[in-house]
Amino acid sequence: MTSALVPAPSTSATPGRVVANNGHEPPTIDAICLDIDDTLIDFTGSARSALSVVIGSVPLGRGDLWPTWQRVTEAHSAMVVAGELDYDAMRHARTKAFLAGLGRDLDDAAVAALEDRRLAQVSRTWRLFPDVLPCLDWLRAAGLRLAAVTNASGPRQRDRLTTLGLNRFFDVVVSAGELGSAKPDPVIFHTACAHLGVPPERTAHIGDRLDHDAHGANDAGLHGIWLNRTRRPTPPLPPTIPVVDTLADLPALLVTDYRTPTVTSASTLPTPRT
Ligand SMILES: [Mg+2]
Repeated sequence: MTSALVPAPSTSATPGRVVANNGHEPPTIDAICLDIDDTLIDFTGSARSALSVVIGSVPLGRGDLWPTWQRVTEAHSAMVVAGELDYDAMRHARTKAFLAGLGRDLDDAAVAALEDRRLAQVSRTWRLFPDVLPCLDWLRAAGLRLAAVTNASGPRQRDRLTTLGLNRFFDVVVSAGELGSAKPDPVIFHTACAHLGVPPERTAHIGDRLDHDAHGANDAGLHGIWLNRTRRPTPPLPPTIPVVDTLADLPALLVTDYRTPTVTSASTLPTPRT
């Protein structure tokens, strides 16, 4: 773990990495924004497990229903951001709509009971990715200000960060549900920067969604970094969007392709957690 956090002299040959710097002066970074779901927390793993509770309770036939669940979730999450539903109402409406779309119309009491079981399974199964704590330790030791920027519910994400011991790392948590603006809207990125007291051009944002996180941050004037945990094929990207497949590579990226206030070379690296 420790060795993965020590930057190599040159990163251009590091597997899974795309170098951000295109031969220009490295940008200075004073703050990092991090997405939460599937960046810090294995959201997909727990949500898939929880969906199996729904499918097991209401037999829905064969096939992978995860893509359908994701589509219904995206549509209903947009209603939260638009202020049309609160988060709890959204969860109920989502499960009801998901089942109705598969030809199973359940009454509200049955949906509520099912949703309670699904949510309990989410809480039982969420976990941190193993590269998270060493990375956050390093970022803090490097003197960087940190924000968590999420498209999900603010109170729920704060609960998760607290439960998982992560809240101590973050100066601010910015959520789409509270702000009324979701990634990739520049408003949510600029709000995070304002809370951090750092301008967008000195802030990097990393997350698992190429569109919402990396391109969204880049388009908002931050330095977008794509966390490609599942190693999907990398489409053509502008040189300003680097790619890492683990947070263990983020410190090396920040030292080699950017500049940070207190860390300018391997000899001045903070000591990460061992
Ligand atoms: Mg995410």
